[in-house]
Amino acid sequence: MSRPELLIPAGNLEKLRTAVLYGADAVYVGVAGLSLRAKQAEFSMEDLELGTKEAHQKGVKVYGALNIFARNRDLDKVAKTVNNLADLKIDGLIISDPGVLETVKKIQPGIPIHLSTQANTTNAAAVRFWKNQGVERVVLARELTLAEIGEIAGEVPEVEVELFIHGAMCMAYSGRCYLSAFRNRRSSNQGDCTQPCRWEYRLVESTRPNSPLIVEEDDNYSYLLSSKDLCMIEYLPEVLKSGVTSLKVEGRMKSAYYVAVVTRAYRWALDAYLKDSDHYQCLPEWVAELEKISYRGYTTGFYFQDQKINETNPGVKYIQTHDLAGTVLEYDRIEKRILVGVRNRLSGDDQVELLLPNDTIDLDLSRMTDSQGSPIREAHNGYQVYLPYTAEVPKGTVLRRRIV
Ligand code: SF4
Repeated sequence: MSRPELLIPAGNLEKLRTAVLYGADAVYVGVAGLSLRAKQAEFSMEDLELGTKEAHQKGVKVYGALNIFARNRDLDKVAKTVNNLADLKIDGLIISDPGVLETVKKIQPGIPIHLSTQANTTNAAAVRFWKNQGVERVVLARELTLAEIGEIAGEVPEVEVELFIHGAMCMAYSGRCYLSAFRNRRSSNQGDCTQPCRWEYRLVESTRPNSPLIVEEDDNYSYLLSSKDLCMIEYLPEVLKSGVTSLKVEGRMKSAYYVAVVTRAYRWALDAYLKDSDHYQCLPEWVAELEKISYRGYTTGFYFQDQKINETNPGVKYIQTHDLAGTVLEYDRIEKRILVGVRNRLSGDDQVELLLPNDTIDLDLSRMTDSQGSPIREAHNGYQVYLPYTAEVPKGTVLRRRIV
């Protein structure tokens, strides 16, 4: 088996650096206006140039998502962007629209093309079709079972298969959904989903608008359409045996904290599997880590035939026990302390952990000082504070705070 790739979402330069620090083999990024994500999860060309250079220096690949369903008016911008990305030596383009694919083949035939999950590829004949169009890798539809995926990968071994292993699921077929367009005039198919499937809904009988029927699952509402999140860390052997090349994490809109925790947990798991695949065991602490990000309960989605499909968790909107406390800006070797850029409000009593790539360390916030070295009890978002720490810590290391 060739070494599988851990592919992490990078919504901006900070998240790209976080993904690289915590062990991604590759990241995928959005380019302004041309990827299926809202503007806050897209790179400027300047940031992308810098991020790609840094990633390549660490041996990490960078793929660009150009997966909009382009209108005629988008095509000139597509061509210009593709040329710019070629200059950056981007490692592949994720595409769903045949017109965009044709454009790339015509003007930059050397860039590997990955077919987005938005193209809903569900069988070997479709994979062969896309191969004949010049596609090197296919992100198969999330609705397939692992058995079907194994069959497809076996029938068309010359095409790489990429699979989602973690992250949010859609209630619609691979995101082909109009809820957001109808409710907010912001279309999922143009990268602008406002996630109305996660909203709180009440059932109202038309002649009695003021007396809603509440299908009560918690104190107030029921989240009927909100799918649990995908999590496959316990089933890595099954996933890898299906012949996939790339293990993809969803979430370009998610925080740097999410990127750090998910990348680190799957890096640990994947390394353990690669070291001794016969004795792979998913350690409870890896799962516990993934329960320290905001999530809606976990599911294995559609991957196992005998399980319930894409479950919802009607009583749960989000589960969140920790959040981002800050990131390390630099290590002061002389004073043996870390300079932290604070996110959220911190107080001396908070329980805060430093997430090193291979370890988690409790920090004592009662020893927090300002830049002059004076003790402080509280720090707000945007502050810079020092905390004593005796060993070198990489820049960008994430700190998290317990909130419940
Ligand atoms: S509204 Fe929900 S189901 Fe529809 S595309 Fe957005 S996340 Fe998916």
